[in-house]
Amino acid sequence: MSEALLQVENLKKYYPIKGGKFGKVSEIVRAVDGVSFSVREGETLGIVGESGCGKSTTGRMIMRLIEPTEGKIIFQNRNIMELSKHDMRKARKDIQMIFQDPFASLNPRHTVGHIIEEPMIVHKMGNRKQREARVEELLELVGLSAYHAKRYPHQFSGGQRQRIGIARALAVQPKVIIADEPVSALDVSVQSQVLNLLKDLQKKFNLTYIFIAHDLSVVRHISDRVGVMYLGKLVELSESEILYTDPKHPYTKALLSAVPVPDPDIKTNRIILEGDVPSPAHPPAGCTFHDRCPVAMDICSKERPNFKVLDDGRMISCHLYD
Ligand code: ADP
Ligand code: MG
Repeated sequence: MSEALLQVENLKKYYPIKGGKFGKVSEIVRAVDGVSFSVREGETLGIVGESGCGKSTTGRMIMRLIEPTEGKIIFQNRNIMELSKHDMRKARKDIQMIFQDPFASLNPRHTVGHIIEEPMIVHKMGNRKQREARVEELLELVGLSAYHAKRYPHQFSGGQRQRIGIARALAVQPKVIIADEPVSALDVSVQSQVLNLLKDLQKKFNLTYIFIAHDLSVVRHISDRVGVMYLGKLVELSESEILYTDPKHPYTKALLSAVPVPDPDIKTNRIILEGDVPSPAHPPAGCTFHDRCPVAMDICSKERPNFKVLDDGRMISCHLYD
């Protein structure tokens, strides 16, 4: 097992919401509420959970696009929360992001060539000629063509635009890519093409991925390990194989039971969760999942479960496994 390349410790993002006449803080949204994990070099860590559970906020905090309220982000043995602006700019080159909606994240007035070249200009890489050659190389790397550099984003399909987003992320030769629902907006057939591309690129460049999705089936084949989030917290994290074949947390079980099975002969016991995801401004006491949990016990509404490691190496926070 290689050492952690990136480590997140007790990461939190609280948003104070002001209300009332005097602009006092009336409530606090706990978007991310104490998340810890590590990612090894060359691996893919999947992060899944329903919409609103804090996945994007977590990803953006690692990029420091959002300033954490609390916590440590250790990249290559340095806490990047303590880096100066100058050093942070350099660290940003090593950690790049791919977004769900490539159309919103690509400037419609710029050519694709310019879009891909821009991060290289920001990080002062090469001269103009070298950068242009690199843009052509990148376009071909992601399955597009050199002549596409002269076109504009609207001239491409959704899948192609995501390839452009990937080329732009790769332009500065990052070590880590945080992919925030990169295929959620694409047709299923296109999804697997983009996933395969990401896998190939990972092998070629020894990339480390944090792959965010709201659907467990999407991350299954790309992730070495998967973390499941609920209401700003990780509830279970383990090797993918273990998580998919033997989920332990009642929330993971429920999410997994909702994944469609291609073979109609396989019986699935679909677990229907009652109620909606509670607001992160008013998380339930104790285990935040207790009011929707089909197997909740007395203790679950009273005490917050700790994160513990089971014999198979998985981490879980659930009183069933105390
Ligand atoms: P996900 O990516 O898992 O769907 P997000 O990280 O986008 O979730 O959001 C987590 C929670 O934080 C949501 O309840 C969202 O409404 C809330 N949130 C996100 N950004 C802000 C903000 N700027 N102010 C207040 N609440 C926010
Ligand atoms: Mg999101």
